Amino acid sequence: MSLNIPVSFEFFPPKTPEGEEKLMNTVKALSAYKPEFFSCTYGAGGSTQNGTFTTIANIRAQGFDAAPHLSCVGATHDYILEVLNDLKTQGVRRIVALRGDLPSGMGGMGEFHYASELVAFIRERTGDHFHIEVAAYPEYHPQSRSPVDDMKHFVQKMNAGANSAITQYFYNADAYARFVDDARKAGVTAPIVPGIMPITNYSQLARFSDVCGAELPRWIRLKLASFGDDKAAITLFGQEVVAQLCERLIELGAPALHFYTLNQSKPSVDVLSALN
Ligand code: FAD
Repeated sequence: MSLNIPVSFEFFPPKTPEGEEKLMNTVKALSAYKPEFFSCTYGAGGSTQNGTFTTIANIRAQGFDAAPHLSCVGATHDYILEVLNDLKTQGVRRIVALRGDLPSGMGGMGEFHYASELVAFIRERTGDHFHIEVAAYPEYHPQSRSPVDDMKHFVQKMNAGANSAITQYFYNADAYARFVDDARKAGVTAPIVPGIMPITNYSQLARFSDVCGAELPRWIRLKLASFGDDKAAITLFGQEVVAQLCERLIELGAPALHFYTLNQSKPSVDVLSALN
């Protein structure tokens, strides 16, 4: 499958052996797009961390590049160093470095406060071994005090040694264009790759969007709600909207596209086929 833009695909760690098997089929299907890498999320606070490393090892065993996400909130320096050394020993070369969010009730911030500290720590302890990806928020992080403040912290994180950034998903291409523009004016030269969330389920997407501060525009929200339980209509509309978004992002000069797959191949394949 030849695309004229590089792609990458994100998963979460499956919870069951059936889920693991299904994920390997998803990997196989998406490998047709020759992704730069696959990545797997990491649960701050402990619940799925081993699952992340197992998933990455399974994908790498199939001959593909795979990057674990690693969040630092609640962790000690010693623990993160142990993880980095393990990953290095396994030959992992890419990490998505995050602060993460502790589950409510898990007090104590640990020895790291922000992702920039994790990036600096990785560089200090492992030199240039890892390609470090970090998170970016074109519609701003929900806890940021102001857009200016959030951009300042993003620049700080890049300057700590990150190689590239992946954004939170969004459906407003202008937010991405403006964010990249502001970052360039602030001296960031590294790639800022848009995160793409295919649309397949209205209530789930509305819930996610409320939590992570991504805007689901009114016209999309109303249109999706109007389809009710008609899954086929939601899927078709979602495919059109997201493929058009990707086209616009490519026109704007996006260096690659990173898909939030939710462990399914079809929604991303639908969008990529529409792009082709
Ligand atoms: P940071 O970059 O540290 O920013 C967090 C907040 O702190 C921002 O509001 C920022 O403005 C502020 N800030 C930063 N530095 C300072 C400073 N020096 N002083 C004051 N304020 C500051 N979560 C997971 O748990 N697991 C995952 O696998 C995961 N993967 C993700 C992948 C991507 C591509 C994205 C976009 C998000 C992901 N997340 C994941 C969610 C992420 O962990 C949360 O959004 C979290 O709240 C912030 O993480 P961060 O790395 O962006 O934090």
